[in-house]
Amino acid sequence: MNELVRLRPSIGRLRYLLRASRERCPDCSRGTRTLTVWVTAAGEGEEVAWCSHCFNATCEPVALDEEHRVRFQTVRTAIARKRTARTWAAARPALEDLERRGLF
Ligand SMILES: [Zn+2]
Repeated sequence: MNELVRLRPSIGRLRYLLRASRERCPDCSRGTRTLTVWVTAAGEGEEVAWCSHCFNATCEPVALDEEHRVRFQTVRTAIARKRTARTWAAARPALEDLERRGLF
């Protein structure tokens, strides 16, 4: 995914999407859980996840792994080049938009 996706929460710093994936929800075992990893320009990672069925949602700090760090470099380059980014107030509509456009 080459697109730069940005989150501007009502509280806190801008975040950029690093990775998105899906898994079966461990809480209700009926829904699909969407896991997204976001990073601030300072390199602080955060995982935001939610279920399509039970709506159990979590948001917690996460350490960047090797794949995240590689992707973070790409994001930083994109920011430095002032590449345009779609900006969202929350993770879920951002992912729904990517899905609508066939990018996720
Ligand atoms: Zn669930």
